[in-house]
Amino acid sequence: MSAVPKSKAADLHLHTYFSDGTYSPQELVQQAQRHEFAAIALTDHDTVEGCVPTAQACEEAGIEFIPGTELTAEQEGHEIHILGYCLDIYDSNLLTEIGKFQAVRQNRVREMVARLNQLNVPLQAERVFELANCRAPGRPHVARALVESHFCANLDEAFERFLKKDRPAWVPKFKMSAAEAIRLIHRAGGVAVMAHPGLNRTDEVIPAMAAAGLDGIECFHTKHSAGTAQHYLRIAERYQLLITGGSDCHGASKGRPVMGSVELPYGHVEKLKTRAAANAQAFRILPADHARTSALPHLNSVPQTEPARPG
Ligand code: AMP
Ligand code: FE
Ligand code: FE
Ligand code: ZN
Repeated sequence: MSAVPKSKAADLHLHTYFSDGTYSPQELVQQAQRHEFAAIALTDHDTVEGCVPTAQACEEAGIEFIPGTELTAEQEGHEIHILGYCLDIYDSNLLTEIGKFQAVRQNRVREMVARLNQLNVPLQAERVFELANCRAPGRPHVARALVESHFCANLDEAFERFLKKDRPAWVPKFKMSAAEAIRLIHRAGGVAVMAHPGLNRTDEVIPAMAAAGLDGIECFHTKHSAGTAQHYLRIAERYQLLITGGSDCHGASKGRPVMGSVELPYGHVEKLKTRAAANAQAFRILPADHARTSALPHLNSVPQTEPARPG
């Protein structure tokens, strides 16, 4: 009897060390190969820096690559993460805007460190930046520095004692509105998807986001139970939203790696790409000298506008 071939599946929510994951692009793609994914998307927080090396690793591995990002936004006082897929990672407006939020993140690290210093924890911001070694540093990197210097036994303790909301070193983060994030993604020819709605259960924001042009909702996520997934599948139907899913794997930074916990049937990737093509027609704003229409097939042939990652 011959083995039944594995049906094509995707993981559309993954992080590398270009934000707060621990994997390099090559390690990420090796893991995706081990799990036999046909397609993966990279969705690092507030950056698209890792997309070029991940696209290259995917090409070598024969895995389809979807460029992406996970933007930190706000709606009605709630922090909402918005995934952007199939966007042009060279879009100058996108790069300028996410650059502003990367600066916000860097300043916030300095503020968190200043608060820790006031609590007699002599951490240095420069050490956090060295450890982070990326443009979108955040609390997980401060937590790593706290563990490294033995102020905390592990990352969870660092969050519980210092970094969680309303703990003494917590600093709020200035965020764009959900509508701005959706517009930014659309203008770069991408598809905007609400990430892990089951994590903070703020369903009341969904109608306004749908009205602002939200394209999809992440029904399948490592931390969604079967019941939670069903709940958001019904919401997707009600608001005519695309369905996506991914593991939200951060490598080893939050316990064991979780890649493989979600296998999105490939049909949803087809629908995502169809929407991306429609969005590019409807919303794309190109500067007069911008000849490229899509980053996807050209990732390797377009000169890099971003400097290579050091080290
Ligand atoms: P930030 O964007 O700087 O506010 O940091 C948020 C990131 O911290 C998200 O990716 C969370 O998943 C991550 N995070 C939250 N709690 C923990 C924890 N206990 N250990 C490690 N990472 C965490
Ligand atoms: Fe994260
Ligand atoms: Fe998130
Ligand atoms: Zn994520």
